[in-house]
Amino acid sequence: MIKNLVVSVAAGAALGLTVLPAAAQEFPTKPVTFVVPFAAGGPTDIVARSLAAAMEKPLGGTIIVENKPGAGGTIAAADVARATADGYRLLVHHIGMSTQPSLYRKLSYNSITDFQPITLINDVPMTIVTKADFPAKDFKELISYVQKNADKITLANAGIGAASHLCGLMLMSALDRQLTPVPYKGTAPALTDLMGGQVDLMCDQTTNTTQQIKSGKIKAYAVTSAERLATFPDVPTAKESGLPSLQIGIWHALYAPKGTPKAVVDKLVAAAQTALADPGLQKRFAELGAVTYPKDQQTPEAVATKLKAEIAQWEPIIKKAGVYAD
Ligand code: ASP
Repeated sequence: MIKNLVVSVAAGAALGLTVLPAAAQEFPTKPVTFVVPFAAGGPTDIVARSLAAAMEKPLGGTIIVENKPGAGGTIAAADVARATADGYRLLVHHIGMSTQPSLYRKLSYNSITDFQPITLINDVPMTIVTKADFPAKDFKELISYVQKNADKITLANAGIGAASHLCGLMLMSALDRQLTPVPYKGTAPALTDLMGGQVDLMCDQTTNTTQQIKSGKIKAYAVTSAERLATFPDVPTAKESGLPSLQIGIWHALYAPKGTPKAVVDKLVAAAQTALADPGLQKRFAELGAVTYPKDQQTPEAVATKLKAEIAQWEPIIKKAGVYAD
């Protein structure tokens, strides 16, 4: 009965009732896809898969994760910006949503107007890591080694607009040296090469590096958070080691295409909030150094506010650095 009433949108409107399309009411009736802008197994992928697993139950449906790497995360963002606005194709992205508008001369989407934000997810610090046999005993030594040998040092990143790229730019600017960038489709393959010694240095989220630091497969020299991390109490902050400008947190959020029906957005927000309150998910994030946003920021409005503020914050910094991609 209710279904029949819901289907009859025109009839309901004629009676002055607020009636939602059946598709929005019944959402989801098929699997939802989270599009991840970087390679599988990396930090953004880990955040997306952890959230997806915790959201399935409250959403009442399956969530598939699809990796669509390339161009520093802009290919995936463009894909979701153009997707049908029905809630079935969503984007998990990070700080890149706010830096790419300044870094790319041409973007086929607008980070603000082409998306319907769903929720902030978490904030993740970066670690400055090297291959295991990098010849520096601490961060101070690393700074002077890099300054003396800049022309020989390779710096991995996940493409222009990736968090690793941004943090790498900040590091090079703080050290006043240019290193040789080596782009990957994500920092999961970059980490493999770092462990293999094919590349020297990288900035990457703790969600990717924690395990490998603990097992000694890579070396951590500094963290980019304001305070030291409970997971690595012996690793100093960049700030306390003389690079105060190197402070950055990589925030992640979930987005739908603009125009997604409100009933669908509301269901996604509610499911995400339930998932983010899940002790299992909170424990997993905490073990990886990620800080989950509080409930009052798990909203579309909080994402919109953060996105606007971060775009405004990064624009002058990126313009000053003079780095652009086409
Ligand atoms: N950590 C990567 C970045 O630099 C992305 C990834 O592979 O998830 O943005």
